[in-house]
Formats: sequence, structure tokens, C-alpha cells
Amino acid sequence: MNTALQAVRGMNDVLPEDAALWRAFGAVVEAWLERWGYRAIRMPLVENTALFRRAIGESTDIVEKEMYSWRDELNSEELTLRPEGTASCVRAAIEHSLLHDGPKRLWYGGPMYRHERPQKGRYREFYQYGAEAFGFRGPEVDAELIVMCARLWPELGLKGLRLELNTIGSAEERARHRADLVRHLQANEAQLDADAKRRLHSNPLRVLDSKNPMVQEVAAQAPPLTDYLGEASLAHFAGLKKLLASAGVEFAINPRLVRGLDYYNLTVFEWITDALGAQGTVCGGGRYDGLFAQLGGKPAPGVGFAMGCERLVALMKVSGGVPAARRPDAYVVHQGEGTLEYAFAAADALRSAGHAVVLHAGGGSFKSQMKKADASGAWVALIVGEDELRAGEISAKPLRRSEDQRRIGRGRIVEEFAAILQRVKA
Ligand code: ATP
Ligand code: MG
Repeated sequence: MNTALQAVRGMNDVLPEDAALWRAFGAVVEAWLERWGYRAIRMPLVENTALFRRAIGESTDIVEKEMYSWRDELNSEELTLRPEGTASCVRAAIEHSLLHDGPKRLWYGGPMYRHERPQKGRYREFYQYGAEAFGFRGPEVDAELIVMCARLWPELGLKGLRLELNTIGSAEERARHRADLVRHLQANEAQLDADAKRRLHSNPLRVLDSKNPMVQEVAAQAPPLTDYLGEASLAHFAGLKKLLASAGVEFAINPRLVRGLDYYNLTVFEWITDALGAQGTVCGGGRYDGLFAQLGGKPAPGVGFAMGCERLVALMKVSGGVPAARRPDAYVVHQGEGTLEYAFAAADALRSAGHAVVLHAGGGSFKSQMKKADASGAWVALIVGEDELRAGEISAKPLRRSEDQRRIGRGRIVEEFAAILQRVKA
């Protein structure tokens, strides 16, 4: 016997029951993005490996150990399944000169790929929605991106998400801070784990965001980056905080929030829930004013976020914000010589009129077909037997309220069915 094949580890099927929730989630999110003035863009799932190495940074989790990269021998190219969307989005903006007529607000959604240890809320294929604003320098767009998230959560039926905020200044300010930070970390090297020791020189700021309590103790005593910020960085942060306050969006400043990608500067933020266990960050973002130049484009500021769809959908489930699956309007049963074609045509006509109609398939007794009609959740069973066929009619039996079965003339089925449906749904 052939062994049954399984999905790749860390990559999920979304079965119809959950897919309905995913679609409801997607519909709310996409409408919300458009309402805030963001326009859709679609990028390939595969990019040149160099894009991510250059954008995300060599000594980051993603580039060090999480990318699905391979050599395409057919074209001698080094390729990677995208681990995130910002790098591709900036690449596309540069390649197509999207900023030639001014700043742009863009959004995208789709699967991302990271070779991580699969666990609840952490997968190897996962979905993100991302929003990016290109060409805006001031803090008002940072605030816009954060406030729009705050407005989304209630639309999704979500409560209890908290906002953590930080500023990591400019590259120059971080360089000045870095020397003192490395000195502090070295003085406490005995308390660092292997990861932190490795990062000590390659990416010391990342040590601050370690999840290891021993390392956290050292991080808590480290010289705060804010002490190294100049006037411009402080003013940007102050402008952002002022707008958040005026919008009534609460936040907590977390001086150890640095985010895992090298391209960030100034604003960084995360939206976090305590309802999902360890994988509680549902959305993360920040400013990346150096990325356009770093990828060979004309310098332009950028700011954006990405949210993790699996985590948000899981949160919708625990928050009870699950929409009911749509019931079919009608389930069409048919039995007897010549009734299939008649039923097929009736279902066809009703669907063209906008109704959701399931035509029974697979035969079976009238009784078993009616059981299927009931189990489908349909509002109305439409019945075509030899009797109806002979009379040129169809029977309609409401399934969700006690109401008698009645006959409809074939030529009036669309109008009369609509009237019955309106009554039974009322
Ligand atoms: P984490 O610290 O959880 O690894 P990250 O900083 O690597 O997150 P980002 O690159 O900022 O994550 O991605 C934005 C969001 O995408 C995260 O906040 C999370 O909701 C989601 N996400 C990231 N990696 C995964 C994954 N492997 N599986 C599911 N969702 C993910
Ligand atoms: Mg990660």
C-alpha cells in the first residue's frame, strides 16, 4: 500500500470551517486598509537572496538561520522564499519608480516563509498583512499606522491588545550607544547565554531583547539608548507620542524593544496580547528611513508594520468573534426520471439571481436527500419529484421554521423563491 503523504512540517491546511473565519478576517482587514488610504500591491513569493541579506541584515535571526534559500541551477540564481514583505515592497517601489509622483501608502498580504521550530503561533509558512508608507518623514504617519491598528482590533472583536513603543534613534546615535553597551555586556559576560555572547559583537542591540531571564537582568542595567538620542530623534518621538495621546491610544514605552530586523530606525512598536501564551506579538513595525538607499534606490523614508494572521485569527477564536458560516438559501433535492435536468436548471437560475444554492449530488432516497438538505443548514429545501416535473412546478419547504410546503410555477420560481426566503429569514 502507498503511505499517505502529509503536509510539510510547520505548514498548515486551513480547513473549510476555519477558512470561513479567515475570509471574514481578510475582508475586514482589506476594507480597513483601503479606508485608511492604502492601496494594494502584490510582490512575488520568491526574490533574489541578496535582497533579504542586504535589507534585513546578516546578523539577524531571519538571515542567520530562518531563510529558505536555494540555488536555481537552471538560471544560476540564488533565490529565497520571502521571509517578510517590507524588503520586496521597497524593491518593487524602487524598480518601478513608484515615488516619482510623491509619497505612497501601500498594503500587501500573503504567505511568508521562515525555517523556525514549529509551535503554537509559530509556523514555517505563515500569513501576514503589511502596510508601508513611503516618502513621509514626519511622525504623523508613524502615528497613523499605529492608530489605524488600534481602530482595527474592535472591528475584529478583539480586546486587551496592548501597544509597546520605543525609539531606537539614528544609525549614528546607535553607534555611539553601542560602544558603551558592548562594554556593559562584556563586564557581565558570565551572565550571558551563547546567543547573547555571539551577538555581543555582531548585533549587541539584539541582546537587549533576549527572552532569557539571566540575560534580561543584564539588559535591564544596560545604558539606555535614549540617553544617546539627539534633538531630532527626540522631537520625532515626542511628536508621535503627542498624536497617540490625542487619539486616545494608550502605550507603554519599552526601552528594550528593538525588533529583529536591522533596517529600523527611530520608531519601533509591537501590539501584544496575553491571551495566546508565548507567541503574543500580533503586529510589529517601525520606521526604516535608510532602506531605500541601502537597496540602491534614491533615498526615501519609510515606515510600516506587518501583522501575523494566524495569531490574529487564533485570537478571534478565543474572543468568540467567529462569524456564522453562510447558510445556503436553498438545497435542491430531486428524484425520478428526468428530474435531474429540471433541478439543475432551477438551481442555475436561482444562483444567477444571486442566491446560494446547493444541488444534491450522489442520488439516494428522497428521505436521505431531505436529511442532507436539513444538515446543510439551508433555509429552504426545493423539491423536484416526478409529480412536480409533470406539473411544471417545484415544491418549496422552509426548513428553519414550521411552514407548509408549497408549489411554485416553474416560470415564477425566481420571484416566488425570493419572497419565501425573505419571509423565512425575517
Ligand atoms: P517573533 O519575535 O515572534 O519571532 P518577529 O519579530 O520575528 O516575531 P516580524 O518579523 O516582526 O516578527 O513579523 C511580524 C508579525 O508576523 C509577528 O508579530 C507575528 O505576529 C508574525 N510572525 C512572525 N513570525 C511568525 C511565524 N513564524 N509564525 C507565525 N507568525 C509569525
Ligand atoms: Mg522571529
